[in-house]
Amino acid sequence: MNEHATRLDSYPAYIYDLAGLKSHAASIRAALGPTELFYAAKANPDAEILRTLAPHVDGIEVSSGGELTHVRKTLPKIRTAFGGPGKTAEELALAHRVDRIHVESPSELARLAALGSSNILLRANLPLKTPNAALTMSGPFGMDEDALNECAYLLADHPQLTLHGVHAHLASGMDARTMLKLAYRIAEWALPWLKDHGVDNPELNVGGGMAVDYSRPQTRFDWETYGAGLSLIPAKVRVEPGRSMTAYHGWYVTDVLDVKTTHGETYIILRGGTHHLRTPVTKGHNQPFKVLTASGIGSPATLVGQLCTPKDVFARNVLVPPLTPGDIIAFTMAGAYAWNISHHDFLMHPKPSFVYWEG
Ligand SMILES: *Cc1c(COP(=O)(O)O)cnc(C)c1O
Repeated sequence: MNEHATRLDSYPAYIYDLAGLKSHAASIRAALGPTELFYAAKANPDAEILRTLAPHVDGIEVSSGGELTHVRKTLPKIRTAFGGPGKTAEELALAHRVDRIHVESPSELARLAALGSSNILLRANLPLKTPNAALTMSGPFGMDEDALNECAYLLADHPQLTLHGVHAHLASGMDARTMLKLAYRIAEWALPWLKDHGVDNPELNVGGGMAVDYSRPQTRFDWETYGAGLSLIPAKVRVEPGRSMTAYHGWYVTDVLDVKTTHGETYIILRGGTHHLRTPVTKGHNQPFKVLTASGIGSPATLVGQLCTPKDVFARNVLVPPLTPGDIIAFTMAGAYAWNISHHDFLMHPKPSFVYWEG
């Protein structure tokens, strides 16, 4: 990718490595064995990315009506699952025809019942410990046992609603062994509960949240261990990773506009900013990067963008070789929760271009 990235017509640009993404997705698919793989579109819904992933996934998980419409247009035949809190009437009207809808509350279930038939997983929010998680999905997501039991009553009165199983996306940023333990705890609770409520071929969607370590770009989630462990659960198991599928295959590439030292601190001012790549601000980390056009002894500098806010920082106090305007830097691990979570119009700078690398 290096050579490619230094010869672009304009900067900044997102480069998506579709060839790398394809082989990464294929290896995840292989490691998961009988477990179904749905990609969580909210990590990166770029149409080329969806098309690249499609042959290697069993479906796409969407979190809004907008995502559902986009996915249906991009991949008309793909299976879909629709989750997320606060679904509107319009969204439920679209969603009652998806392959699986993840119900977030008893009142959502009642509204769904009025729309005709649908295929349901109930989203559970069980009081399980999630050690070392980067983000715990407590709060408004899913239902506790009382609400789940309330749903069971509703389901008994509404045969047009087919209960297939339980969904539980409890936390993100965990390693394979921790996630596996959590999946077993979910299964221990959910499978007897589903059996009691007459579900014969239970489905268990154990969500996404597989760890991505931005401070160690070479490491990968242990899909082999996870897949082997999940295959022991006596149910149709499904996972819906987002970040761990696409994070590694996007670069945000840009050039140096200015280098300055203020009060003893050196700043490298780059074209663009965190309105294109918000990931380091939201995660509070230094975005990993490669300097593509300069080498030499590193000295500390802070990499910033063009925004008029001190928060516009890609990486603070990192070692960089001597840089001058025109040098090119690639921020790596920018393929998930990057462009699509950024506030593009702030300051009205030009948008990045998008380049798709097919290998
Ligand atoms: C965001 C989300 C995912 C994907 O999470 P990642 O951390 O990107 O793997 C999966 N399922 C649900 C319900 C989500 O909200």
